[in-house]
Amino acid sequence: MLAEAEEVASKRTRGAHRLPPPPSALRGRVVVAAVAVGAFAAAGAGQTLHSAAASPTRDEVTPLANGQEAAAAFGVGGNTPISPEVLPVAKTVDTSSEVDKLTKSNRISEQRAAAEAEAKRPKFACPAAGTFTSGYGGRWGTMHYGVDIANRIGTPIVAAADGEVISAGPASGFGLWVRVQLADGTINVYGHVDSYSVKVGQQVRAGQQIARMGNRGFSTGPHLHFEVWNPDGKKINPLPWLNERGIAL
Ligand SMILES: [Zn+2]
Repeated sequence: MLAEAEEVASKRTRGAHRLPPPPSALRGRVVVAAVAVGAFAAAGAGQTLHSAAASPTRDEVTPLANGQEAAAAFGVGGNTPISPEVLPVAKTVDTSSEVDKLTKSNRISEQRAAAEAEAKRPKFACPAAGTFTSGYGGRWGTMHYGVDIANRIGTPIVAAADGEVISAGPASGFGLWVRVQLADGTINVYGHVDSYSVKVGQQVRAGQQIARMGNRGFSTGPHLHFEVWNPDGKKINPLPWLNERGIAL
């Protein structure tokens, strides 16, 4: 009978998975800690006092942990580590991850729309509206290295292709010119312009206005003189170059 009781007691002890009761000195420290927490922590401190004092055999929660909780919950004691169970933060993380997902999905939609717009956008454009007045080749005993499109002064001149502006200003014979270099090294030249609205280093897109038609330099009337220099620097006939890119003059 006695052995049985002992066995039950030992089972209870083993099965409980409980920490041994804290030494009385430690329990005393909890009281001190609870008092130190202060008046505004009274509720928490009261609990601590209650569990420590009223049921000295209850030791499921170590007094130290309880003290930490009280301090953490009320924000007392800057160096008290925040225990993992005080975590309204978890909810915040969920919310922000939802926002992240939304933001990401919005960004993907925007990127997709941008990619579609980019795919649809014409990559080449007729540099100016007007009358084709002169082609590439020998003319009046000299070589004409471009094509001429005549129209009124001020007629918009647009980039024939995407590229980077490498010249915008005065040039001998051209009056004022704009040169745009394409990604493959090809250079488009826009001569005799009355004014330009781009600067060197600027990226332009096909169809974007870069200048206005003029009559500057060696010119016999308002027109755009348009040249194409291939990546080797050779001035080639702009007509087939434009035609191959879907542009007819
Ligand atoms: Zn010309």
